Amino acid sequence: MAANKKLLILPGDGIGVEVMIEVRRLIDWMAKNRSVSFDVDEGLVGGAAYDAHGVALSDGDLDKAMSVDAVLLGAVGGPKWDNVAREHRPEAGLLKLRKEMDLYANLRPAIVFDALAEASSLKTELVRGLDMLIVRELTGGVYFGEPKINETLADGTRRAIDTQIYTSPEIERVTRVAFELARKRGNKVHSVEKANVMETGVLWRSVVSDLHAAEYSDIELHHMYADNCAMQLVRTPKQFDVMVTDNLFGDVLSDCAAMLTGSLGMLPSASLGGADESGRRKALYEPVHGSAPDIAGDGIANPLACILSFAMCLRYSFDMGDDADMIEKAVQNVLGGGIRTSDIMQDGMARVSTTGMGEAITMELDKLT
Ligand code: NAD
Repeated sequence: MAANKKLLILPGDGIGVEVMIEVRRLIDWMAKNRSVSFDVDEGLVGGAAYDAHGVALSDGDLDKAMSVDAVLLGAVGGPKWDNVAREHRPEAGLLKLRKEMDLYANLRPAIVFDALAEASSLKTELVRGLDMLIVRELTGGVYFGEPKINETLADGTRRAIDTQIYTSPEIERVTRVAFELARKRGNKVHSVEKANVMETGVLWRSVVSDLHAAEYSDIELHHMYADNCAMQLVRTPKQFDVMVTDNLFGDVLSDCAAMLTGSLGMLPSASLGGADESGRRKALYEPVHGSAPDIAGDGIANPLACILSFAMCLRYSFDMGDDADMIEKAVQNVLGGGIRTSDIMQDGMARVSTTGMGEAITMELDKLT
C-alpha cells in the first residue's frame, strides 16, 4: 500500500455536498482497486460553516487546509445567507482559503469531450478535440490593488477607483507555472495582457519575455492583447495550448473558454500556491460551478466537474498522471455510451441522477482496469 496522501474535503453548500459524495465513491474505489489510500478529513466552509461556527471558515478548518497535501472543495453560497454580513458571507470562506494558502495560480482547463462537442455554442468542427489550459493569476491585480475607493466628491460627483498593481515576482511565479505545464502538454504558451494601453501590461510582457529567454526558450511563446485573445478564443480556439494572464483578464477569458465546452457541470479547476522546500505545493481543487440552489436537493446535479477536479488533484498534487488519465477516459467513455445528467441531456441518451453518474464512472473504471 502506497504512503497515505492527506486530503481535506470541504463539500460546502447546496450541490457541493451532493457532488462530493461521488468523489468519495471514487476515493473508495481507488483504495479498493488501485491500492492508493488517502487520509481523508472533512470540514465545513461557506454557509455550512457559518451555521455551525458563525464564520465562513473556522480557524480549525483553516489549520487543516494548511497542513494537508490538497483540499477538495464543492461549492459555497445560497440565498439562505444573502443577508449575512459581508465578512461572514459564504464566499468569504473561499476567499480566505485562497489568501491564506497563497493560491496564486488558477488552472482552468477547457476540454471538449467528443460526445459533447455538439453542445458547444460554436460550430462542432471548431471545438471538437479542444484541449486548452488557462493559467490565471489569482492573488494580485485590480481585485486587490489599493487604493480601492467609492466616494462622493465635494461637488456631488460620485467617483470610484480600482487599482491594478503587479510586481515582477508576482508575474514571474505564475508564468513559471504556465511554462512548466506547457512542457508537459503542447509546449506552447500565449501570454495575454494589454501592453498597448496599460503599464502593468508592459511589465507583464517584459517579465514573461525575460523568463522565457533565460529558462524556457524551448517553448513556443506568443504575446497577445486581451481583446484580440477574446476574439481568437471564439474564432480558432484550437490554436491555444496554455494561456497565462492576469487576474481580471483571466476571470473573463476563462469563462469565455469554459462556454466553448458547453456545460458548467463539466468544468474542473485547480488553484496552486508556491512550493515548499520539499517541492510540495499548497493546492485547492474545485468545480467551476456554484452551489446551484435551483436544483440543490433534487439529486440531479452533474458530479463530473467535481470528479474531474479530483483527477486534476491526482495529476498535480500526487503526480498520479496515469490515474488521472484513467478517470478522464472513464468520463469520456461514459459520455460516449450515452449516459447523461439533466444539464447535458441530449435526444436518445439515458438520463441519470447524480448518484447514477457516479456509479457509471466507477463501473467504467472497473472495465478499464
Ligand atoms: P451556479 O454555478 O451555482 O449555477 C448556475 C446554473 O448552472 C444553475 O441553473 C445551476 O442549476 C446550473 N448548474 C451549475 N452546476 C451544475 C451542475 N453541476 N449540474 C447541473 N447543473 C448545474 O451559479 P449561480 O446560480 O450564479 O450561483 C449560485 C450560488 O453559488 C451563489 O450563492 C453564488 O455566489 C455561488 N457560487 C459559488 C461558487 C463557488 O463556490 N466557487 C462559484 C459560483 C457561484
